[in-house]
Amino acid sequence: MTEELTQGVAATRPITYIQAAVITVLVVFAILAGAVAFFFGVVAGLVVFVGLLLLAGVYHVSNLFKLVRWLRTPVEQSAPLPRAFGLWDDVFAEVNHRSRTATHRQERLSAALDRFREASQAMPHGLMFLSQTNTIEWVNRQGEQQFGLDRARDQGAPVTNIVRQPDFVRYLKEGDYTEPLTFTIGRPVGRTLMVHVVPFSEDMHLLMSEDITQGQRVEAMRRDFVANVSHEMRTPLTVVSGFLETVIDGLDDLEKDDIRHYLGLAAEQAVRMQRLIQDLLTLSALETGSPVPHEEPVDVAALLEEVRQEAEVVSAGRHTIDLDCQTRAHLLGNPKELYSVFANLAINAVRYTPAGGHIRIGWRRRGAVVDYSVEDDGIGIAAEHIPRLTERFYRVDRGRSRETGGTGLGLAIVKHVLSRHQGDLLIDSEPGRGSRFTASFPARRLVE
Ligand code: ADP
Repeated sequence: MTEELTQGVAATRPITYIQAAVITVLVVFAILAGAVAFFFGVVAGLVVFVGLLLLAGVYHVSNLFKLVRWLRTPVEQSAPLPRAFGLWDDVFAEVNHRSRTATHRQERLSAALDRFREASQAMPHGLMFLSQTNTIEWVNRQGEQQFGLDRARDQGAPVTNIVRQPDFVRYLKEGDYTEPLTFTIGRPVGRTLMVHVVPFSEDMHLLMSEDITQGQRVEAMRRDFVANVSHEMRTPLTVVSGFLETVIDGLDDLEKDDIRHYLGLAAEQAVRMQRLIQDLLTLSALETGSPVPHEEPVDVAALLEEVRQEAEVVSAGRHTIDLDCQTRAHLLGNPKELYSVFANLAINAVRYTPAGGHIRIGWRRRGAVVDYSVEDDGIGIAAEHIPRLTERFYRVDRGRSRETGGTGLGLAIVKHVLSRHQGDLLIDSEPGRGSRFTASFPARRLVE
């Protein structure tokens, strides 16, 4: 029994040292292996993590570069941004959208600006945008011409440094724009300008200018015309009423012959007034710009024979008058109007040529034109008067014109009739030697 017990005890004998050592080694190995595995697992994880981070970084950086490159490309050359993944796709899509919206807005604005510029350039008035200190921000073409400015050169400069007209400078300095300003500017050419200034924001104002030179000239001409007509009418009327008074007062005392003489002089003045009114009516009909009333082939040679005879009557044998017709071709025009041109020039030659003088009337073709000319060896005209002779009532010598029954309207009528027949008037003259008046018509008006 004791032996059995002893064998049983031996079967559950405690672990030997060797076994314990082996187990310990195994456990250590197991721990080490676990630690190594854990270490490599972590490292591999880290490597994968860092790799992923790097990839993401490269992706972001490349997209950033794309964005920067795109932003630096000029708008008109840039293509839409490429597509990308994730958030970058949203970023690119949003940037594209905003850029397109901005581009459209800019296009609309620049189209509106272009339209505004075109409209401003087409305006008959000058327009100038001025800052608070009167520097030129923008000026249209009319403004440049009226003030003698050059936009490229003068933009940004104070307008008062360039246009130094004292009234204009004062007007801008004082800043009271309730009334427009009218002033005369000497450069680039003498002209009268009317300017309005309209402030349109806190620090900007718009200057509008209008060239009223022509209007003023027309107004001055109208005033002169009324004054001239009144004067021309008053002189013969005074003479007529003077003679009539003399006759009335002396009815009982005056001889019959004296009365006839005075009444004859009064009648002469009445004829002069009639002629003046007739010329005024002719001129006003011509100046309305209505077309030539009736055109037909006019036998100029026959017409000039009549003119010569009329000139002979006015000359009363004091001059030699020759007629040289080199073409029998007819001229297309209005016979009455053409007669008034031919007769006016021929009779003027008689009136301004002293007795004994020669007058040559000519009608000849010269290439593309056909000329009617009247040449005299009379008193002639100084060069400074020649450009003004066709103005209404312009006379070199008022007294002489009146003495010879002139109205001062003859050459004005001639000029108008000629322009209605596409003709030109040429005047050659030398004081003391004589004059040549040539009316040229285009040869295409000739009817063979
Ligand atoms: P007027 O009735 O005064 O002659 P015109 O218009 O016919 O008016 O002529 C204008 C001016 O031109 C005249 O007053 C005169 O001084 C000048 N004139 C015209 N023809 C001649 C000429 N043949 N010789 C010299 N002067 C002339």
